[in-house]
Amino acid sequence: KVRVRFAPSPTGPLHLGGVRTALYDYLFAKNQGGEFVLRIEDTDTARYVEGAEEYIEEALEWCGIIPDESPKKGGKFAPYRQSERRDIYDRYTEQILKTDYAYIAFDTPEELDAVRAEFEAKGDVFSYDNKTRNQLRNSLALSQEEVQKLLDEKTPYVVRFKMPIDRTLNLEDIIRGHSSVNTNTLDDKVLVKNDGMPTYHFANIIDDHEMEISHVIRGEEWLPSLGLHTLLYEAMGWEAPQFAHLSLILKPDVSTLINKDNIDSITKSFTEEFVAKNNEFSFEESAALIKSFFSEVKSPRFKSMLGENEKDNALTASVKQFLKKGLSGKLSKRDGDKFGFPVFPLNFTDPKTGNVSKGYRESGYLPEAFINMVSLLGWSPADDKEVLSLDEMAKEFDLNKVHKAGARFSKEKSEWFNHQYIQLKSDEELLQILKSSDLNLNIEDEKLVKIIGLMKERATFPKDIYENGKFFFEAPASYDEKASKKAWNDETSAVLGEFAENLGTIDYTSETIKQAIHDFAENKGLGMGKVMMPLRLALVGELKGPDVPDIMELIGKEESISRINNAIN
Ligand code: GLU
Repeated sequence: KVRVRFAPSPTGPLHLGGVRTALYDYLFAKNQGGEFVLRIEDTDTARYVEGAEEYIEEALEWCGIIPDESPKKGGKFAPYRQSERRDIYDRYTEQILKTDYAYIAFDTPEELDAVRAEFEAKGDVFSYDNKTRNQLRNSLALSQEEVQKLLDEKTPYVVRFKMPIDRTLNLEDIIRGHSSVNTNTLDDKVLVKNDGMPTYHFANIIDDHEMEISHVIRGEEWLPSLGLHTLLYEAMGWEAPQFAHLSLILKPDVSTLINKDNIDSITKSFTEEFVAKNNEFSFEESAALIKSFFSEVKSPRFKSMLGENEKDNALTASVKQFLKKGLSGKLSKRDGDKFGFPVFPLNFTDPKTGNVSKGYRESGYLPEAFINMVSLLGWSPADDKEVLSLDEMAKEFDLNKVHKAGARFSKEKSEWFNHQYIQLKSDEELLQILKSSDLNLNIEDEKLVKIIGLMKERATFPKDIYENGKFFFEAPASYDEKASKKAWNDETSAVLGEFAENLGTIDYTSETIKQAIHDFAENKGLGMGKVMMPLRLALVGELKGPDVPDIMELIGKEESISRINNAIN
């Protein structure tokens, strides 16, 4: 039976990478007719963030990634919060201590820091492992009596994994294939802390075993732990699940992000970070240099411009290094605020600073568009199809088609998906979405639905329907200058005035209006454009928007005439 878990630690909000892991976990489970489990790994109380668990649950729900078992829902293997599973871990702590794979260690953090400092003084790096463990205060190095004495004195201790010496571990990963690691490169990780709580590694394998997890699909950052995890299964005498490690999500291509509207704010946030790290340089000088690089970001030479050059002064050399790092590699949580795109599914308020980072939901993304975009960050369905529902994704999902290379996030692509999904929504559905937003829409539903029908084609976000169609809701406050030059001449006022008089008698539908414009233009011996263009300017304030007769029908006869009169007077 396929059982897959998503096992986040409640140390902060879920971000794009976390959503993708959860989504692939879910898709694989559903594809295989299996179960998807949400487990909260909250044994690290120091990194616990209030509200993070609720955030994770709400975000998954918004995405439609609904667990079969979870802390909220319960299930056969409850509890699903590690902090509530202490008795289970205690039992297994006892078990592993009876094997040759674990020992207890009394070293205090201060003692370990002192040893580390000694090593560093000699230019070495300290590691608690088979080369050093004999010189430290643990049950392998001390006599039985000494150990007993320390235990009797209630000396705090941790449980450590005893890494075997010089064994080559063969590791299998569904996405990455085969690899091997020698145990001499691994250290004796703490399994149980001195408060008796297990660390991530130990609790994680215990729960995967207890919860009968068949496949562990998780981020690449856990790949270095695979050796230890494999040995932990061996130590416990358990069969290990299969593993699949997902590649990183990479930063978007900066040339698509920086433009003349945001260059100053992006420069500012980069400069702030730069001078915080390099306080020998002034803000103004650094900002000027950073901006000069950003102004070239669209140039094909941009990358090579960041290359080292002997002639660079200290500031230039540091800025280049800083930018090279800040503009490539792994997508970080802070990139969102820096570049102006969401990295979190929902708004997130940092409990420490009170800063709010915008979420996809609050930015006007439809959840279907969001997860569709996320699904393709590292996976390609058959025929390179792009627009897929969650069910279609589940049907097609294949771990063998998950990419080994990092997936580059793209802001434009996420907007493209949102646009696509807006087109797939019915006008009625969009009406409900708009009505539940905080836009101030005082207009009858019937009219709003029609406006939606006319405007959605150009909308990336639901609110665009309102913002690009403001003229449906209010008369133009001014007229675009360029458009006026183009659409208006000395006769226009007279022409439109006469046209407006004709409107009084007609039945007011877009059809009849169109006919009226046509007839009027013909009578006057004018081209259609000579009437249509100034009319549009009078109604909209600029030369854009859907067909003029459609606009006129929707705003109504009285309003149309009033706008024409405003424009000609
Ligand atoms: N609690 C770990 C995390 O936050 C889970 C890693 C895993 O899936 O094994 O990422």
